[in-house]
Amino acid sequence: SDHRLEYPRSPEDMKWEKLYPQYHDKDSDSMLSKVEIADIGCGYGGLLTKLAPEYPSTLILGMEIRVQVTQYVEDRIIALREKHKDDEVNFQNISVLRGNAMKFLPNFFQKGQLSKMFFCFPDPHFKQRKHKARIITNTLLSEYAYVLREGGVVYTITDVEDLHIWMAKHLEEHPMFERLDKAWEEQDKCVSIMYNATEEGQKVTRNKGSKWIACFRRLPTPEDC
Ligand code: SAM
Repeated sequence: SDHRLEYPRSPEDMKWEKLYPQYHDKDSDSMLSKVEIADIGCGYGGLLTKLAPEYPSTLILGMEIRVQVTQYVEDRIIALREKHKDDEVNFQNISVLRGNAMKFLPNFFQKGQLSKMFFCFPDPHFKQRKHKARIITNTLLSEYAYVLREGGVVYTITDVEDLHIWMAKHLEEHPMFERLDKAWEEQDKCVSIMYNATEEGQKVTRNKGSKWIACFRRLPTPEDC
């Protein structure tokens, strides 16, 4: 249960300096950058570590609900920061937060703050009566659209075909998202990174399973909204 999880009252109330100490300006007590990329249900953090060198000046955040898994990712990032402290890529731009991404996302991120959201191998919740627990639903998509900027991208990948169809259908039906085509997927570096970077994705490769991808662009907000 997550009823004891703490949430900031607003994105401004979040102590981001604890997560990204090198991006904190002590003189003005303010952050030099905001999180722009979110990995929802980041698991063991493989995607974060691969995105870090690709977007060296962008803050990237993993959100994970399991305590021990979050702790593992925290330790992993601390170790990477220590090992690479004198290197150009020093992993100061990635961090992890324990939280339920299905709740209070707008408490963490301002409207239009994010440029990319990743949903890699989300829990499938196979049974019909469990479908409402899936991380892509109409209500949640409106929240994701709120925190994403115009032109921002939602990335999804799964080895469960039924879940792929479900996620693509809900995103296609949502007025704030437009599917990106195969040609776009082929030229986008994040698609190839997420195909191989995550621990779950690597397991699927080892088991010679299939992976389904669907990416969507966040459309402009209609004038009259
Ligand atoms: N994305 C990772 C990967 O590809 O290796 C992990 C995939 S794992 C199958 C799904 C992850 O989502 C689990 O680590 C689970 O704890 C996390 N998760 C499930 N529901 C969540 C929620 N509401 N908020 C945050 N994380 C969640």
